[in-house]
Amino acid sequence: MTQIVEPSFRESVDLMFNRAVALMDLPPGLEEKIRVCNATYTVRFGVRLRGQIQTFTGYRSVHSEHMEPVKGGIRFSMGVNQDEVEALAALMTYKCALVEAPFGGSKGGLRIDPRQYDEHELERITRRFAYELAKRDLIHPSQNVPAPDMGTGEREMAWIADQYTRMNTTDINAKACVTGKPLNAGGISGRVEATGRGVQYALQEFFRDAEGMKKAKLTGSLDGKRVIVQGLGNVGYHAAKFLSEENGSLITGIIERDGALYDPAGLDVEAVHQWIVKHGGITGFPDATHTAEGTAVLEEECDILIPAALEGVINLSNAANIKASLIIEAANGPVTAGGDEILRKKGIVIIPDMYANAGGVTVSYFEWVKNLSHIRFGRMQRRQEEARHQLVIDELTRLDEHMGDAWSMSPLFKEKYLRGAGELELVRSGLDDTMRIAYQSMRDVWHERDDAQDLRTAAYLVSIGKVAASYQAKGL
Ligand code: NAD
Repeated sequence: MTQIVEPSFRESVDLMFNRAVALMDLPPGLEEKIRVCNATYTVRFGVRLRGQIQTFTGYRSVHSEHMEPVKGGIRFSMGVNQDEVEALAALMTYKCALVEAPFGGSKGGLRIDPRQYDEHELERITRRFAYELAKRDLIHPSQNVPAPDMGTGEREMAWIADQYTRMNTTDINAKACVTGKPLNAGGISGRVEATGRGVQYALQEFFRDAEGMKKAKLTGSLDGKRVIVQGLGNVGYHAAKFLSEENGSLITGIIERDGALYDPAGLDVEAVHQWIVKHGGITGFPDATHTAEGTAVLEEECDILIPAALEGVINLSNAANIKASLIIEAANGPVTAGGDEILRKKGIVIIPDMYANAGGVTVSYFEWVKNLSHIRFGRMQRRQEEARHQLVIDELTRLDEHMGDAWSMSPLFKEKYLRGAGELELVRSGLDDTMRIAYQSMRDVWHERDDAQDLRTAAYLVSIGKVAASYQAKGL
């Protein structure tokens, strides 16, 4: 029997990169320069916990500095290693280029199971890791700006921001050293849900693409589409919640660490989320079938599959059994290079990670700009906008009175039209616009070039082209 050999995560990303770059005509040496990871820093540090010193291993990898600062999340997980952070840093370079966020790519990770520590212990570990990175400018508003990723969130970002500020007391831009902070610590409205919201906007835009829909053998709207989600964490929970509550999609399967829930009539995402918060897992959730072997549910019949947990979950061993029409990679690297080839041959359309989960870095970009400009979005123009709208309403009110029964303003028009956009509305509008434009740039390549037969290749072609142009403009 031949043994199945799966490439590592970084090798998988390189294989996908190579497939696209072979279709380009880059000057000699430039493709190698873009592909390689510039530097990876490994740190081992000790923290005294529970009466003894515990040693932790962390990484911060910088893939490409064609634009600075470089940007990318910090992950807390036992799976963290050098290969993984380098793969994730490379994806960040391509992602930022695709959505035109002016950053190079980076990523960090700490090998730790955060569930094994209490809040106070985690704060000490996080601050110590942040100290190690900040003293080497691997956390810095103009050099390297981390964000949340698997196992981290607003809380950890607030600790990191505070640690950096304590080390740089006169830096007026200190808050811009990290994004994904809580609102009261320099964050921005809409960042927590941004990646899940971006997945929703990506799907909405895909459903506007008639030719793409035909390739995925899908018809109609998101309403009633059967969706299976793996990982009900930050990204998966928000994506599933918005799709079910706002688009009418049916979340028929939810796969978590401790198995999967399945209900062909659609699960109540909020109820499952609350159950996980209370019980630490999905086990015991009433009103749904529980399967202990969760990954088997990836192979269930559905219209849309959303892997939103880990990398490498769709691979040589199970890709042939996937029945979804469309896969949207909310997680980074959920499909291996081998899995990708099988799915492509089966005609399953994949919306690639570098685009699908770019909502997070997009809103992080807005947060960074907000921190550097030291003012909340909408603060200057909101009331002025409302005053101008009031002029229109006054005129329409006069017309309304004049027309009698023949015409009147629709109910709620006045209220809706009068309301000027606050920060959240502006963030959503900026995110929606970014996701639409980035999709259209991939879509045009996908539909127009015979040699770019899938969205991933199209996405790489667009983003590598932008990174290459940036290096060439610099004269490298
Ligand atoms: P998270 O830690 O909030 O959630 C991960 C979820 O996956 C958790 O609910 C966890 O229980 C579940 N999970 C872990 N192992 C699993 C397994 N073996 N099977 C099924 N479920 C499992 O992390 P997140 O921030 O939602 O990140 C998820 C993915 O999205 C990662 O690949 C991350 O790199 C990517 N991503 C996150 C962001 C962001 O803004 N948070 C942005 C871009 C990409």
